[in-house]
Order: sequence, then structure tokens, then C-alpha cells
Amino acid sequence: MSLKVYLFTDLEGVAGVDRWDARDSDRPVDARRCRETRELLMGEVNAAADGAFAGGATAVVLVQGHADSMIYELADERLEIIKGTGYPTWLPELGADSGAAFFVGAHSFCHTPQGTLAHTFNFKKRRQWWLCGREIGELGMLAAYCGAHGVPLALATGDDKLCREARELIPEIETAQVKVGLGIESARHLSRDRAREEVRMAALRAAERAAKGEVPPYQPPGPPYTSRVRTRVRNLHVPRHLPPGDRWVSPYETEHTRQELLELLRCMTDI
Ligand SMILES: [Zn+2]
Repeated sequence: MSLKVYLFTDLEGVAGVDRWDARDSDRPVDARRCRETRELLMGEVNAAADGAFAGGATAVVLVQGHADSMIYELADERLEIIKGTGYPTWLPELGADSGAAFFVGAHSFCHTPQGTLAHTFNFKKRRQWWLCGREIGELGMLAAYCGAHGVPLALATGDDKLCREARELIPEIETAQVKVGLGIESARHLSRDRAREEVRMAALRAAERAAKGEVPPYQPPGPPYTSRVRTRVRNLHVPRHLPPGDRWVSPYETEHTRQELLELLRCMTDI
């Protein structure tokens, strides 16, 4: 039996990372930290891939979820890697041919108390998302997109708050806790190698469980499906006159209703 894993990544949930990504800075100290955090990410990505293959995965496609975070030459040779900019969709090539999705380096949603680098999608805009009445972050959004394709999210790695968020959403999910969040820019981290071992073992369990069909694809209640999107700053991308099913709740908040879940999720990530 073949099991293809869709391995999506972020950066803020990796052990050793507790500061915002300074990729746009010219300061040498930031450049050094940027390189270091990306090496740490690649270590956890490779650990997840190694665990997935040990657990029965036959292919793992790595998908860069945080801009310019992949160090291509450090990727496990068994991986195929989707990276670049201007993807056609938030999750390129996600389809029913994937048997499971993994999320490595994930963080908790905006305003999570003591969640390290907690934010939702765009930390400058302080976005918040609610899907069918429940607040979600990037993990919930990934779970819902995957679920809409019939793909279970089987692994999440990050700090303790992210792991809790993942288990509350999907009780069957495997998690690897690589740090304990102490504040928005602080954490108590496992060592690099212990974190990788946690990720590897959780990925192995996740692949085994996904292969046995033990992790259900996430499904929010519906149809119809509803969502709310709030931004801290007035959102100028959203037209004043919204299509049917959408309405302005305040200058900072819109509400959306759709019969098709994927259509609803796309309108949330496009805002
Ligand atoms: Zn993120």
C-alpha cells in the first residue's frame, strides 16, 4: 500500500526559534539568526520525513509554508520540494492522492496566552479567523483544507500551546512538543537533537496511524459553512460591496457563508 505524505512547514514552531523572522533585515546579526533558524527547520523537516518513511510512507512532498525558509541543499534526498513564491493556491498540489498531511514548525493562533510567536497568517495585521463558530489559526486552516480534500492532518509539531490546539481540534492527531511557550518571544526549548527525535518518533506514529485510517479528515459542521475574519487594521483589500453570502460586521470584520467548504476557505485566506 502506498502512503504519500504532504509535509507542510512553518518556521515559528521550530525548537530554538523564539523571535520573529528578520529576513528583510540587512543587519549581520539578523542574517546569522535567519540562517540558523532555517537550519533548525531543515533538521526537524528531515526528522519528520525520516519518521514518515520509517512508519510506512512511500513518498513525502515537502511544501514550504514560510517564505524563503527552505535550505534546498540540506533536504533529505528522498524528499520532493515545493518552494518559491506566488503559489497558485495556499497549498499547492494538495489533493486526494495524499494519504496524510503533516505540519512541522507550526505555532498557535493569534492572542494564545504564552504561545511563542502566536499569530494567524499575517502577524502585522493581527488577523483572526473563526470557522463555523470556532477560532482557528493556521493549523485549523490547514486541517480544514486537507479535510475538504479527504486528507487527514496526522501530525503537528511546535510548542505546548500549538500541540494543545491541535489535539482540541483533532483528538487523534500525533504531536511533537519541542518547546514550552513562555511569552510571545520566549520559550523553554528542548535541545536541537532531542527536538528532532521527538519529531521523528511522532512522525513515525502518525504515518502508521494514517496508514491504518485511524486519523479522520477534519470536518467543520455544515453545510452551510460560515466564517468570520477580523483584522487589526482596516482591511482595504476587501471590496465595500461584498458578494451574496458575505457581509461587513465592522470596518475590521467580515462574515462569510458558503455551501462549499473549499470556496469558504479560499475566501478566508484571500483576505
Ligand atoms: Zn505561520
